[in-house]
Amino acid sequence: MRLQKYMAKCGVASRRKSEEMIVQGLVRVNGNLITELGTTIDPLRDIVKVNDKIINLESDKIYIILNKPIGYVTTLKDEKDRKTVIDLIEGVRERIYPIGRLDIDTTGLLLLTNDGDITNKITHPSNKVIKRYIAIVEGIPNKSELERFRRGIYIDDRKTSQAQINIVKRYVDDSILDIKIYEGRNRQVKKMCEAINHPVKKLKRVSIGEIELGGLNVGEWRYLDDNEINYLK
Ligand code: URA
Repeated sequence: MRLQKYMAKCGVASRRKSEEMIVQGLVRVNGNLITELGTTIDPLRDIVKVNDKIINLESDKIYIILNKPIGYVTTLKDEKDRKTVIDLIEGVRERIYPIGRLDIDTTGLLLLTNDGDITNKITHPSNKVIKRYIAIVEGIPNKSELERFRRGIYIDDRKTSQAQINIVKRYVDDSILDIKIYEGRNRQVKKMCEAINHPVKKLKRVSIGEIELGGLNVGEWRYLDDNEINYLK
């Protein structure tokens, strides 16, 4: 790529202005001063400095929704060499990372991005973004257990904020629950269900705020659409 084009793509200045800067002796490639126009560079290998500062291509912002399968961790690398959700996102060159986490045995909605600005909006409890889960639990919670759950439960010496819980279906030995929480503490849903004596057998996250898993199959991902991205910002 021509040096002045690369400079423009990095947001330094227009191509015209970049040419002037080259001629003025403000640009170095791999330490060598360049004053001739017509120099080409390899954006992936060459180091370009303008006014002694390295310039970089502004990477595009990427927003992905994944239906996480069981058996994948939500870290970028795993010390035990387990599969990570990044292994499922093929064909994306940007360095993305998951927003928040899901346990290895939890399925459902996971957002991934390279936009550091939005992580806080989703994960910080003060923003009150609802995370909705469908849980299969042992037994059927009674009224007072449901009330305890709704009021908040002490986990690790700290009370959870108010939550919503409703029974979707009752079976003989277990039940399906629809749960909404505002925080994202470690293993929060499982700990809350355990505290009311109905341990979780299966857990799936189906929405985060206005973003819904919809018909995305397990293991599949897609880019968020403009409405969804605007909601996150
Ligand atoms: N709560 C949990 O207990 N586990 C998850 O993966 C997500 C929420």
